[in-house]
Amino acid sequence: MLHPIAIAHTPFKEKFAIPRQPSLAPAACGIIELLPPFNDPLALEGLNQVSHIWLLFEFHAVGAQDHSLRVRPPRLGGNEKIGVFATRSTHRPNGIGLSVVKLDKIEGTRLYVSGVDLLDGTPIVDIKPYVPYVDAVASAYNRIAQTPPSCVQVSFSFDAQQQAQQHSQRLAQDVQALVEQCLAQDPKPAYQKPEPTRQYGVKLWDIDVRWHYLNATHIEVINLSGSAV
Ligand code: SAM
Repeated sequence: MLHPIAIAHTPFKEKFAIPRQPSLAPAACGIIELLPPFNDPLALEGLNQVSHIWLLFEFHAVGAQDHSLRVRPPRLGGNEKIGVFATRSTHRPNGIGLSVVKLDKIEGTRLYVSGVDLLDGTPIVDIKPYVPYVDAVASAYNRIAQTPPSCVQVSFSFDAQQQAQQHSQRLAQDVQALVEQCLAQDPKPAYQKPEPTRQYGVKLWDIDVRWHYLNATHIEVINLSGSAV
C-alpha cells in the first residue's frame, strides 16, 4: 500500500498542454510539499547536495480502471498501438509516473523544482536523488523515441505579450517562457489536424491562455486573461 508523502503544486490546472515529459518546459516550476507525518526537514537532510531528483507519483487524474495492454503513444502519431510497458503512457495497470526534475532550492519542507510535467495536486509517493553514474546510461537507446519531439513555432500577439509581462510580475514566474515552451510541444492530439478558425485554450496558474494556428507548424498566442489583467 502506497501513501502520498508529498503533494505537487504546479501551474498545470488541467492535463491538456502539460509537457509529455519533464524538462521539455524548463520554465515549468513547481513546489513539492511534504505531507504529514513526513513534513519534517530531517527527511530532506543532505538533499541540498543534489541537482536533480526523481519524483514517483500517482496519475491520480486517470480513472482506476482506465488502462489497457496496448496504447497509442503520441510519438507514433496517436494511431499506432504498442504494448503499454514500452511506453510512458498514463494509462497503465498501476498508475505510477516517474519524472526527473531540477531541484532549484529547498525551503523547510518544500522543494522548489523546475521542468515538471505533473498536474497540480499530484500525489507524490517517493522522492529519490538522481545519481548520474547509474541513472545516465551512456550506451542507452530507445528506437521509439530517439530524439526529442519536434516543436512548432510559437509567437505572441502584441496584447498577449503585454499580458504575459504583467502576469510574470504578478506571479514572479516567467509566464511567456512557460506558455511558449508548453505550446511549442503542440498539445493538440497528434492525430488531429489544426483547424485554422478554431481557438484553443488552457489554464496555466490562474491564466486562461488562448491561441490559434496560423498554419500547421505555427501557433499564435492571442490572449492571456486572468486575475487583475
Ligand atoms: N514523466 C512521467 C512518466 O514518464 O511516467 C509522465 C509522463 S506522461 C506521458 C505525462 C503526461 O501525464 C502529461 O502530459 C499529463 O497530461 C499527464 N499527467 C501529469 N500528471 C498527471 C496526473 N496526476 N494524473 C493524470 N495525468 C497526469
